[in-house]
Order: sequence, then structure tokens, then C-alpha cells
Amino acid sequence: MRILGRGRIKTVLVTGGAGYIGSHICVELLDAGLEVLVIDNLSNSSQEALNRVEKITGKTVLFYQINLQDKARVKTVFETHTIDAVIHLAGLKSVGDSCRLPLEYYQNNISSTLVLLEMLEQFSVRNIVFSSSATVYGDPATVPVTEQFPLRATNPYGRTKLMIEEILRDVANASHIKVVLLRYFNPIGAHESGLIGEAPNGTPNNLLPYISQVAMGQRDKVLIFGGDYPTIDGTGVRDYIHVVDLAKGHTKALQEIVGNGSKGESCQVYNLGTGHGHSVIEVIKAFEQACGHKIIYEIVDRRSGDVAECYANPALANEKLNWRAEKELSEMVMDAWHWQTQNPKGYKID
Ligand code: NAD
Ligand code: UDP
Repeated sequence: MRILGRGRIKTVLVTGGAGYIGSHICVELLDAGLEVLVIDNLSNSSQEALNRVEKITGKTVLFYQINLQDKARVKTVFETHTIDAVIHLAGLKSVGDSCRLPLEYYQNNISSTLVLLEMLEQFSVRNIVFSSSATVYGDPATVPVTEQFPLRATNPYGRTKLMIEEILRDVANASHIKVVLLRYFNPIGAHESGLIGEAPNGTPNNLLPYISQVAMGQRDKVLIFGGDYPTIDGTGVRDYIHVVDLAKGHTKALQEIVGNGSKGESCQVYNLGTGHGHSVIEVIKAFEQACGHKIIYEIVDRRSGDVAECYANPALANEKLNWRAEKELSEMVMDAWHWQTQNPKGYKID
């Protein structure tokens, strides 16, 4: 692995590493020969995910159950370990909850980031990769979306992403800290082992876990939010990306900031998507192929705040990070189905 071979990065701190995307990133980092520390308060995840990461990789994750806002406890982690880079995923992510509880979202997502950045400065950690989102493009005027498109958030969750992007840009300009902002499109699927995957609490907000639960007979039908969008079949179009492809983008981003040394820009931004859009109905049809039976759905009113179509132009990441999403929709839904059948209650064991 180049990161290690150059002797530049040995230990990576993954905040939110017990979560859906974080656990897949931990697998990639460990497979690349890096040491992995995780800080997570388990507010939306389970430590079992990290046990499974260890099972997949045969390696150890050092786990700290800490709220990232708790500066004193976070500081002890930085005092105990020499951290070379941080991948910052920790945060609350539900659009709906953020509209009901904006203060909680601003408090959690922004304060955590400020504490983390203070630690980076104090302990001279020079590299940070941040989990941003395609939500920062709001309702894009055209597709595919490039990194230069205007930024506009339409809800408090999205605004936390935009604010954190701005904070990181300022910090990168004012210090030696190098920043990569990764704007994720729609991560779905699971690790091919079926050991780690998406395990939402309560009713899923996102399409894939909802379809998975309908396919399992845990819910009656998929409610499709809107059938009258100006898209191929009237349903919303998104850029679904396999979570393992997304995770690989993070090791590539670390290689880029470290490999570029002082020549690199202090703040780089990349879309992580496939460059292809799929409609809700296309996703349901693909899932039917994977699970081998019909999935009942009903078209209902549009969900407020949704956009018709959003998919990435990932050319910059393809070129600069030497990264490309490789897995097709069929593989994404197959892996989602495998995970769901192996873990009908997510990580809960009873
Ligand atoms: P997730 O909820 O599974 O993971 C986030 C993790 O952060 C959880 O394990 C949670 O316990 C932890 N966390 C939250 N607040 C914390 C705090 N104050 N201190 C310590 N830990 C804390 O979500 P995910 O889907 O894995 O998303 C990871 C990141 O990627 C988030 O920042 C999210 O906004 C971003 N993102 C996700 C998507 C998506 O569709 N899943 C899309 C774009 C961006
Ligand atoms: N969607 C849907 N029913 C659901 C959940 C989502 O029809 O139960 C649609 C949603 O309107 C959008 C697409 O599926 O067109 C992806 O939604 P998701 O919430 O997964 O991701 P988003 O792109 O909104 O972040």
C-alpha cells in the first residue's frame, strides 16, 4: 500500500467509525495495512459492527466510545496515540430529524468538528478527510453535477455540511492542515461478506433499507414519493454508489493528500458517485431480481424537499484520485439483500 510504503501515514482516526459507512472504511484501511482508531458515541450504531470489521480483516480496531464534543476525553485519545490522519464521519444525518431538532444538529455536528479541529492543531495532525454530501448542491439546475456547481442547502442537516465545509476551508487556508471534502451521492449495499451493512434504527428514511425490509416481509409496501417528476418513469433519480466503492475512495483520498506533499492544494473537493442515475422504480426492479420475488409499491405524494434528479460527474475523482466506482446497481442490491437476510434485525441479537 503506497500510503504505508512511503512511511507517511500509519495511524488513522475514524470518527463515526462504527456507523454504516465508517465500518466499511475501517475494513479498507485495515486491509491497506493501516492502524485504525475509532471514536464513536454509538448514538446511531453498535459496537458489534466493529467486532465484525475485526472478523472480516483479522485485525484489531482500537475503539473509544466517546462523544466527540467531549473535548477532555477526545484529547486523551490524541495524547495516547500518534495520529497521522483523520477521516471525519461522526454526525447526525437525518434530514427530517434535522428540521424538527435543528439545534441538536448544529450542536452535535458543528461542535464535534470544532473540537476535532482544535485537536488537529494542538497535536499537529496534518490531514483530514470529511464526509460531505451531494445535499450541498440543493436542487441542481442540471445533471450531472460537477464540484463547481453552486452550493445551497435546503435543510438544517445540509446546512451543517455546508458550514463544516466552510470551516474546513478556512482552517486549510490558515494552517498546515490539508483537507479533502468528499461529497457522497447515495451510498447503498453492504460488504460482500454480509457481516456489515446499514442498520437503521426505527423506520428507515432512505430508500434501500426500506425496500430491504419490504422484501423481507417486515413492512407491507414501498411508498414511492412522487410519480410525476420529469424523469424516465416519473420517479426520482439518484446516483446510487456501492458503499465499498465509496470506502475505497477514502484510501485514495488519503494517498492523494499525503502523496502530493506541499504541492497539493490545501483544500480539495471531490464528488464520489458513479456518474449514472437510477429511478426508484429501476431500483425496485433490480431488487426484485436479487431477492427473487415481487416487491409491492404504491406511488404517493412527493416528499417535501426532494429533487427530481441528482447524479454526479465524478471525472475529477476519477482523474486526480485514480478512483472509480466499479460496482453496478445489480451488485449493490444483491449485497444489500445478502446483508438483510443474514441480519434481519441489523446488529441486534436477542
Ligand atoms: P451513521 O449514522 O451510520 O454513522 C455516523 C456515526 O457517527 C454513528 O456511528 C454515530 O453513532 C456517530 N456519531 C454521531 N454523532 C457523534 C458524536 N457527537 N460523537 C461521536 N460519534 C458520533 O451514518 P453513515 O450513513 O455512516 O454516514 C456517515 C457520514 O457520512 C455522516 O457524516 C453522514 O452525514 C455522511 N453522509 C452519509 C450519506 C448516506 O446516505 N448514508 C450520504 C452523504 C453523506
Ligand atoms: N424514496 C422513496 N421512498 C422511500 C424513500 C425514498 O420513494 O421510502 C425516494 C426519494 O424520493 C428519492 C430516492 O428514493 O427519490 C432516494 O431517497 P433517499 O432518502 O434514499 O436519499 P436522498 O437522495 O433523498 O438523500
